[in-house]
Parts: sequence; structure tokens; C-alpha cells
Amino acid sequence: MRLKVLGAYGASDATHNLTGYLIDDRIAVDAGTLTSKLTFAQQGRIEAVFLTHAHADHTRDLPHLIHNRFNQNAPPLTIIASIEVMERLTSHVFNNEVWPDFEKLVSPLTGRAAVQYRALSPGKRVTINGVAITAIPVHHLVPAAGAIIEIGSQAIVFTGDTGPTQAIWKRTNKTDGIVAVITEASFPNDFQQVTDESGHLSPQTFAGELKKIDKDVPVYASHRKIPFEKKIESEIRNIRDRRARVLVEKQYTF
Ligand SMILES: [Zn+2]
Ligand SMILES: [Zn+2]
Repeated sequence: MRLKVLGAYGASDATHNLTGYLIDDRIAVDAGTLTSKLTFAQQGRIEAVFLTHAHADHTRDLPHLIHNRFNQNAPPLTIIASIEVMERLTSHVFNNEVWPDFEKLVSPLTGRAAVQYRALSPGKRVTINGVAITAIPVHHLVPAAGAIIEIGSQAIVFTGDTGPTQAIWKRTNKTDGIVAVITEASFPNDFQQVTDESGHLSPQTFAGELKKIDKDVPVYASHRKIPFEKKIESEIRNIRDRRARVLVEKQYTF
């Protein structure tokens, strides 16, 4: 699997991008950064976008991706999220006030809607265009579900934003072919209170999550907050577990 990390931060400026990943150029996970880093043609080749939760740093580029697809001769884009997350997206974003509900609009280029919504029941493995996706709830301030995404014989786990959690690790340990885990470390260790109160991980609680994972695969910390970037990176590197890694904005091949 090829994983393009378009954004690996929990904040944005000229050199740091919000959470957005692209697998094999066709399946996106989160949409903080998509349109801002992909050409119009590359956007047309995305088949599906999985949203971990409705926070703006994970959805910023989604309205613009959908709008571009409306103006492209491309198959419908499938927007995927857990049922609870989808309810928030449709009631608070695609509500014809913040942004149109493009599922109800016919594209003049294709004669059909540019998007279709697909709400997943937690824990249920579904296959979309040959890609198996399982949404599994995690612990954040708002309803949130990570995903295990399987293509062929390989799988990557994405938690999205989470504090200490359980269900997704149990499922990870039972899934064959896991090649990488992408989770988060938003604040450094001396900001543990704000980390816990905001439903995130610090390097020390990230290390606690590592102990729950049986697989011998790299486990990446994403979603660093800009002013603490270097501190978080050095604390992740000091974890006594060779699986602990810092996620950077580049393409990984597994
Ligand atoms: Zn976030
Ligand atoms: Zn969040």
C-alpha cells in the first residue's frame, strides 16, 4: 500500500498541514488537507473519503473536494463515516446553509449526483470498490471512529483523534495483514491535563497505547500541535519501543 501523508498536524500554517491521508491515490482518510495539496485531476481519481469525525481540522477541504467533483466527469465520490459522525456532517455542514447537500444535486457533467453518503455501523466490515473498511469508535470529545482499511492482503489502522482507547486495538490485534498504525500525539507530556481533557494523546499516553497493540509494525504519531512539534517528536523518539515513530508529510510504501 502507498500512503501519501498530505497533512500530519493538528493545526495549520504555511508549512504544516491539517490531517489528510491518501491510500493508493484512491482512498482518502480525513479531509483537513486534500484539495489544497492535490491537482484537480488527482481529486477526480479519489473514489472514497473516510471521515473519522466532524471537527473542522479533519473536514476543512471536504466541501471543496465535493464541489470540484460536481464540476468533473468522474464517478460519484463516496463519503464514508460512522453513523454518528455522518449525522453530524449532514446536519451541521451539508445542510444547505453551510454548504449544499450535493447528494441531492445532479452534476451537469455526469447527469447524476457527484457524491453519495455511506454511514457505517461500528465494527461492521464493509467492502467498497474492493477496499474493506471497518469503522471502530475511539475516545474523543465528539463522536469519532477510526478505521481499519484493507486492500489486498495489507491493512492500515487509522485512529484519527483519540485519547486512550480499547476497541480499535482489540480489532487490530485480530486483523491479518496490518502493516502500519497511524494514531496521534497532540501535546507534549507536560501538557497532560489539556491532552486528557481534549480527548487526545501525549507521547506518554501514546506509549501506553503501544502496549495494547500486539502487532510488530510501525505505529506513527500524527496530529502534532505546531508550537510543541519538536518537543513531541523528541519525546516520541525517547519511547523505549522501536515501533514508535513520528509521522511526517511524505509518501510511505508498505
Ligand atoms: Zn484534530
Ligand atoms: Zn478532533
